[in-house]
Amino acid sequence: MNPKIVNSIQKIEATFIDNNFALTLDAVSIDSRSLQNGSQTLFFALVGSNIDAHIYVEDLIDVGVRNFVVTHIPKNCETKANFYVVKDTLMALQDFAAQYRSFFDFPIIGITGSNGKTIVKEWLNFLLSPDFNVIRSPKSYNSQVGVPLSVIAINEQHNLGIFEAGISVSTEMKNLQKIIKPTLGVLTNIGSAHDEGFINLDEKIKEKMSLFQTAETVIYQMDEKIESFIFPIANAFTWSFINKDADVFVTKKKIAELTILNIQHRKEHFDVKIPFQDQASIENAISCLMVLLYFKYDQQTIQNRMQLLFPVEMRLKVKNGINNCSIIDDSYSSDFQSLKIALDFLESQKQSGNKTVIISDIFQSGLTMDELYSKVSDLIISNKISRVIGIGETISEYKHKFENCVTYQNTAEFIADYENVDFSNESILIKGARSFQFEQIVQLLEEKTHETVLEINLNAISYNLNFYKAKLKPNVKIMVMVKAFGYGNGGFEIAKLLEHHKVDYLGVAFADEGISLKNLGIQLPIMVLNPENTSFSAIIQYQLEPEIYSLKGLRAFLKIAAQKELKHFPIHIKIDTGMHRLGFEANTIDELIAALKGNQTVKVKSILSHMATSDDMQHIEFANSQIDLYEKLSSKLIRELQIQPIRHLMNTSGISNFPNAQYDMVRLGIGLYGISNGSEEQKKLENVGTLKSIISQIRAIPAGDSVGYGRKFMAVKPTTVATIPIGYADGIARGWGNELGFVTIKNKKAPIIGNVCMDMLMVDVTEIDCKEGDAVIIFGQSPTVNEIARALNTIPYEVLTSISQRVKRVFYRE
Ligand SMILES: *Cc1c(COP(=O)(O)O)cnc(C)c1O
Repeated sequence: MNPKIVNSIQKIEATFIDNNFALTLDAVSIDSRSLQNGSQTLFFALVGSNIDAHIYVEDLIDVGVRNFVVTHIPKNCETKANFYVVKDTLMALQDFAAQYRSFFDFPIIGITGSNGKTIVKEWLNFLLSPDFNVIRSPKSYNSQVGVPLSVIAINEQHNLGIFEAGISVSTEMKNLQKIIKPTLGVLTNIGSAHDEGFINLDEKIKEKMSLFQTAETVIYQMDEKIESFIFPIANAFTWSFINKDADVFVTKKKIAELTILNIQHRKEHFDVKIPFQDQASIENAISCLMVLLYFKYDQQTIQNRMQLLFPVEMRLKVKNGINNCSIIDDSYSSDFQSLKIALDFLESQKQSGNKTVIISDIFQSGLTMDELYSKVSDLIISNKISRVIGIGETISEYKHKFENCVTYQNTAEFIADYENVDFSNESILIKGARSFQFEQIVQLLEEKTHETVLEINLNAISYNLNFYKAKLKPNVKIMVMVKAFGYGNGGFEIAKLLEHHKVDYLGVAFADEGISLKNLGIQLPIMVLNPENTSFSAIIQYQLEPEIYSLKGLRAFLKIAAQKELKHFPIHIKIDTGMHRLGFEANTIDELIAALKGNQTVKVKSILSHMATSDDMQHIEFANSQIDLYEKLSSKLIRELQIQPIRHLMNTSGISNFPNAQYDMVRLGIGLYGISNGSEEQKKLENVGTLKSIISQIRAIPAGDSVGYGRKFMAVKPTTVATIPIGYADGIARGWGNELGFVTIKNKKAPIIGNVCMDMLMVDVTEIDCKEGDAVIIFGQSPTVNEIARALNTIPYEVLTSISQRVKRVFYRE
């Protein structure tokens, strides 16, 4: 138990509903999916734009959580736990974190600015951790939620904190200031990021600087504008490339792959090498260097450590592994806090039951080794990890604390033994400190495919789902269509996310799509749009729910249902109201009623129809006639069969265009994947998929030469040509070649020249400063899928679903 957690929660403003459960709290959670939730967890039910966590309270009680912070007590839970009832659970979390923070009194570095916060934080952690027990915000936890969660991880052993604070609109910093209370401030820079939330630059600077209200010193690049906002109590510790009045004057020189910074600080002059050349990295490195100077590090140490700075990977990536494994690559940090986060992520992404963790020695905990590895072991057990592979001298020493654990002294030893270790059908978390170079292990375990990937932003999917949910009338349910492999985006991963969001139904086109989802553990009800009669047995076996659209299909299904002695098996009746694709026509409704009347083997779970023109208001009269006919026919079925089915008619476009015909449920499809048929609505959605590749080769050709099959491109001037390993076999329409289409390289358009080949295409990069191996965006922010569809005279659905299965899907969260 952590008495500081108990103490802090008792201090916040709340009505305590005490049902006499123990208050032996030692952890705080906002994530209902975490396997770390248990009887010692204090759960804050946050109400976000994404999700209202109150819907998980009952499930959490089932796994043993007994203390909640809520705005209201959910149904059926009244006496099953203790509740702190508050007005706003996010504010309560922040108040709680501020209380918790007040128990500790050691230096805290607060970092804010428009860019570079996470990098500066990670670098400072690297630079300072040899001498301090550092607690830092994990990943980029810098938001209104992330900051309190970061601060709550402080314990007695820490003696230095490094926290970042990010804000998107004015007034948010106030809240974060109270929680972090930095003693030293670092302002990375003031750029244009998130400008929308601020009236002007002054307001933005003022707001950012408010983090440093109680700081003794603030570090920043000298700037008059900032000067006027520095608090009278704080000292400025400034640096500059141009102004010799700054405390630290810096000049820079680039050689080979390095930058040499010449530092003038008081009477001292010295050089520092850093392994970067871009402006942002140089400025971030200087911010870190300023902190080292502030802490009075000697030149030698500064030089030694600064030259080891490294690129920071900020997100956890899920990749396809060998032998049907999936791997989560977190191969650059290893500390207790980030291990907790990675284990939660592993659980939310796993595809099969077995989970393996490959983990290095753990650093920077502030605990004794014995305590630390006991805690790690508890964490591993609560997360139901089947196997631990420990790499490093310390973890090898504490091997006895883990079950089913093998250890190696170092990464090389593991790699030498790699052939003897079996990896198959499991989810593997690869988590190690940078020095262990676990990227080598990732390389071994990663499925070898070519460099083209479709990156799927899971946060964007959540965002888009909630965008449409907000358009629904009260109590309207939502079915999400994940047919065609989630519109090309990946079926299982998306279904899993939708299950978390508690959508009501999933829809697939064919039975096998539903079966594979069920096999992977999806429990949501799944409607099959186009079940073939031959698949009825499998449908029943896997508890899928068929759409029945003809008398023939109905009779076949009823026959099997009778043979299997089913009772009230859910079916969905599709009626044709004008689309003329699938469905009972008006003149067959009487026969349908006769066939269903009194039948106990099936139950009409829903009645649906499909709109032909919900996206095009030119056809509004036709659309209204479909709605009228649907109303009439479905009412007749309901009346004569005396049933209470779910009625649903609208797809994505219909949700917005025909809000009054949402009935009991809508069927969301393309919108979830970030694409709308309306241009205004399109602006409000987030891009989900980014199709990426790389440059395989670059060459210069003289005027008069041609490129590709059929010599369709003729160079009229000297031209630089880049070859990209993606072609029509990957789903890039051949028509997108010959300068109609383009790809994006280094934020610039590179026209596709000549014909698209089967596995490759060529682009003109004469105007772009790029090299072999550079990233290429085929679609995403630019060009958008919509843009491509328009140019090709087709619809975005076709562009998305054409991307071949040989293109690897990589899922990530921001
Ligand atoms: C595909 C499909 C949807 C979803 O359509 P979107 O336009 O992608 O929203 C809804 N209903 C049926 C019957 C479908 O086949």
